[in-house]
Amino acid sequence: CGIVGYVGHRQAQDVVIEGLRRLEYRGYDSAGIALVADGALATQKRAGKLANLEKAIADHPLPASDIGIGHTRWATHGAPNDVNAHPHTGGSRRVALVHNGIIENFAELRARIEADDHVMLSETDTEVAAQLLELQVESGIDLATAMLRVVRQLEGAFTLVAVDADDPTRVVAARRNSPLVVGIGEGENFLGSDVAAFIEHTREAMELDQDQVVTITPEGVSVLNFDGTPAEGRRYHVDWDLSA
Ligand code: GLU
Repeated sequence: CGIVGYVGHRQAQDVVIEGLRRLEYRGYDSAGIALVADGALATQKRAGKLANLEKAIADHPLPASDIGIGHTRWATHGAPNDVNAHPHTGGSRRVALVHNGIIENFAELRARIEADDHVMLSETDTEVAAQLLELQVESGIDLATAMLRVVRQLEGAFTLVAVDADDPTRVVAARRNSPLVVGIGEGENFLGSDVAAFIEHTREAMELDQDQVVTITPEGVSVLNFDGTPAEGRRYHVDWDLSA
């Protein structure tokens, strides 16, 4: 039920875990993280509280990284266990993806993916998006273009956030009838299901419309409509009281 994305100059693990903690109030049954380091994904995910994830990371430390995504899950498809927790990856573990919402046509997409001899590891609707996204980037296109091609195949309400192990410079997200906001920093940028995810780092935010894909790099933010045309987010200042 919570999503965090980060790219910049800090330890992404710290930013992501802290962001997930700030989103805990939304409720969840599992938590997970993916980082990109040395051209590979490093992931960890656990059913239960964030403390379970933190324990798993303490036992199996993740590499240093300045790019990552995180998720707290409220299960809709598949039991709340370690395997079904997000992030999900494609078969060659090149793309990691987290998702809030429901992909209504996942059964049909899943059947198509399995017919192509790809093995699905989880019972989630989410994994189809991870598998499709990885197949797209493996065809040689960039992550944002790949995301556009995937979202056009999906029905339902979703926020998707993804990283590509072969491109440690960007986090790409998409939203349809589901929350997603950008946090604007200096030499770093953030994604969150709400501003609580990044408010301790920046109060400069960008609101997106529905049916948009956003790319964050350390230096910038770019937005595309699902039809591929460029768009502009609306910048605003968050003046919430953090203690509220
Ligand atoms: N439908 C997805 C799942 O069951 C995402 C649920 C969520 O919004 O956390 O894994």
